[in-house]
Amino acid sequence: MAKSVQRQTDRRHIYQYIYDSGQPVTSEDLAEVLSLEPDAVEQGLASLLEEGMILPAGGGAYELEPQGRVAVGITVQRDEVRLLAIDMRAQELGCREIRLPFAHTAEYYKRLSQYLEEFLDDFHLERNRLLGVGVTLPGIIDQTASKLVMAPTLELWDVPLEELYHYFSRYPVFIENDANASGYAERWMNKARSNMVYLALERGIGGAIFWEDKQYTGDNGRSGEFGHLCIVPKGKLCHCGRRGCLEAYCSISRLSDDLGLTLDEFFSALREGDQQIAAIWEEYRDHLTDALANLRTNFDCDIVLGGTLSPYLEGLLPEICWELGEKTLFDGDNFFLHLDHFGPHGACAGTALRFIGDFLLTY
Ligand SMILES: [Zn+2]
Repeated sequence: MAKSVQRQTDRRHIYQYIYDSGQPVTSEDLAEVLSLEPDAVEQGLASLLEEGMILPAGGGAYELEPQGRVAVGITVQRDEVRLLAIDMRAQELGCREIRLPFAHTAEYYKRLSQYLEEFLDDFHLERNRLLGVGVTLPGIIDQTASKLVMAPTLELWDVPLEELYHYFSRYPVFIENDANASGYAERWMNKARSNMVYLALERGIGGAIFWEDKQYTGDNGRSGEFGHLCIVPKGKLCHCGRRGCLEAYCSISRLSDDLGLTLDEFFSALREGDQQIAAIWEEYRDHLTDALANLRTNFDCDIVLGGTLSPYLEGLLPEICWELGEKTLFDGDNFFLHLDHFGPHGACAGTALRFIGDFLLTY
């Protein structure tokens, strides 16, 4: 192996070890654990210090500089966009929500890329440390064909991703489905779970499947589209054109837009005992637990509930679990149902974490 390649490999192993250890590490520790010559360790540490990837921690030890690199996630939704920057430890460095009704026009994407530049400036995020920008859309994306197949809530069908990449070409960009990104973020926080199903409760309902430590995307990149599971045969019309889909019953719009309320208003009315609101919630919960019971029967693994609704569900989890227990075939208790870590930030965090994850493997 050429010397420069060997040095890069050693440096990567040193960085990965410091990253994983989560505490200060000395050069002696590194030489011993990684079976490296002291010279190789010193060279690697000097290079990492110079690049601002580690910090002296006193006593001849070194620790991770969490902001050695950063990544940004952008979620595009029907009425708004959200931007989130994270560091190497998935800690939030900045977040902004902007009301920006979606339109598949050059003007919209130009404004969005301007918002990105302002966001980077306002939060003092150095562009030379920015690994990339992940963008999520509430739709089915075929990465092999580089095409957005459909995003019913944005009224988009068959759009080549090139049309979107073009507007962000200043940075490395990755475009993906929002629920897949949220699932990735959740998986990042729960590396001990090798199997997991993620259900995102947003205006659109999506999901992601992680099987034996890997994301299962399906033969056509369309796995986990749980929003379009039929839960009421010949039921309500869904955005996708079919009837009875979970999304037609458990979109968060059922608890907000459709009632002319915000989610805050809905859940405070529920807490205050408003009977009409309680009846709407019970119907919502009934459909949700039908879907969860089906997922559990199909996948037999932990299920994580996430998205914009998840922060509101904390106090309601026991009743959801009780109802779910009545509907599942094998489970008396419901240890398998959890709420996510990132809530409405899941998609942003997940798509940004893709860059962090790739960087850790290839730096
Ligand atoms: Zn549907």
